[in-house]
Amino acid sequence: FDQLDGHIWMNGEFVPWKDAKVHVLTHGLHYASAVFEGERAYGGEIFKLTEHTERLHESADILGFKIPYSVGEIDAACMELLHKQGFADAYVRPIAWRGSEMMGVSAQKNRINLAIAIWQWPSYFDPEQRMKGIRLDLAAYRRPDPRTAPSKSKAAGLYMICTLSKHAAEAKGYADALMLDWRGRVAEATGANVFFVKDGVIHTPTPDCFLDGITRRTVIELAGKRGYEVVERTIMPEEMEGFEQCFLTGTAAEVTPVSEVGPYSFEVGDITRTLMDDYTATVYPARAAAAE
Ligand code: PMP
Repeated sequence: FDQLDGHIWMNGEFVPWKDAKVHVLTHGLHYASAVFEGERAYGGEIFKLTEHTERLHESADILGFKIPYSVGEIDAACMELLHKQGFADAYVRPIAWRGSEMMGVSAQKNRINLAIAIWQWPSYFDPEQRMKGIRLDLAAYRRPDPRTAPSKSKAAGLYMICTLSKHAAEAKGYADALMLDWRGRVAEATGANVFFVKDGVIHTPTPDCFLDGITRRTVIELAGKRGYEVVERTIMPEEMEGFEQCFLTGTAAEVTPVSEVGPYSFEVGDITRTLMDDYTATVYPARAAAAE
């Protein structure tokens, strides 16, 4: 992935893609002092750009560092890079990290770096599988207690257990894994939030130890406009037996139907399909404007 063409925005400059490098003694690499965002551009506009950039700032605040660019400057850099890369539909990845000036757990004076990369990433899951509903394993790792890790930050370190869980699931032929939280409640997938449907009502876990995703909030709003009832509550894994539909939401995953979670199976039903269509209509600026 480091050999693509085009440019990466790095600390205020456009650097050729292949030259956007960091030193091996980067604090972010050794001690996970890094936070990032995942955004998507549709038809030349980045969906909820400022909300994502604000979350990037908050994620850094939670990790105790300040990104040396304002929200407005980062928004402008993302848009400038999108145009420079020449994509209408693309994935946007800003990342901020502590640099390599000092080595050791404490690195109070290390420079805070910011980079933005944009590439084409049409579908997070296999497109054919996605329409039939993807299969999820139940992860062995659990989302940590907020007293154990800064769970409200989109921090690189929190993805260690996500990669482990996703790799374990893939080794067994699953597309992804559903993670429980430290109390044994249903939490989320490794890079997306989860929803269930039963008797026309939508149920989703209360986001008290994982990201309250921007897509999650968008889909709750879209469900409201359709008149669907959405209940945010504690969901125990055994309850999946009684749910009829299941889907994931996330910037990369968008709205993705789920057909299986471990021993539990679901249909790709009407509510899931309606929300998939409504989400697509919302993210494309031209289509959203036409619908107003
Ligand atoms: N949870 C995790 C662990 C994620 O990585 C993501 C993707 N950022 C989400 C949830 C969904 O967040 P969003 O809808 O803001 O992309």
